[in-house]
Amino acid sequence: MSSIRYEIKQSTKARHIRITLYPDGRVVVTKPVRAPRSAAQDFVDRKSAWIQKKLEYYKNREVQPLGPVRSKTLAEALAFVKSRIEYYNQHYGLTHGKVSIKNHKSLWGSCSARKNLNFNHKIVELPLVQADYIIVHELCHLKEFNHSKKFWALVAETIPNYREIKNELRNYSFR
Ligand SMILES: [Zn+2]
Repeated sequence: MSSIRYEIKQSTKARHIRITLYPDGRVVVTKPVRAPRSAAQDFVDRKSAWIQKKLEYYKNREVQPLGPVRSKTLAEALAFVKSRIEYYNQHYGLTHGKVSIKNHKSLWGSCSARKNLNFNHKIVELPLVQADYIIVHELCHLKEFNHSKKFWALVAETIPNYREIKNELRNYSFR
């Protein structure tokens, strides 16, 4: 028996047992309601080498907390964001309202109903790919004010690997 800790989720829709790993180290085993718990354990045991390897990978990957904004002033952050919006808007050609840098506590960006685009001042501390993803995400909300398939298709027009980048973004904290 492996010593892997996991959570069990029961699903009425699941037809097979499956394992989901999260970058924070959580292991979730989803099983059909009728499958016994022992079957979930067997499955984890069989997959244990793979799970360990993945967890190891997540653990070793550097989590980069963002430091306080030091060298970059808010004006610089605004100039940076505006230039990236301009760059991507050559493709999208969307009309937007005011662009501002906000001291959001938990958001990277937002798009208001009045089409104003707001970005967290820490965006300048992110690697460019992550910052660009956030900018494109909010830019696309100007056209699709939701997270529908249409919205993601729009994002993918300029950032085809947005899924990967979005997952990576979870490794960057606001503190
Ligand atoms: Zn969104």
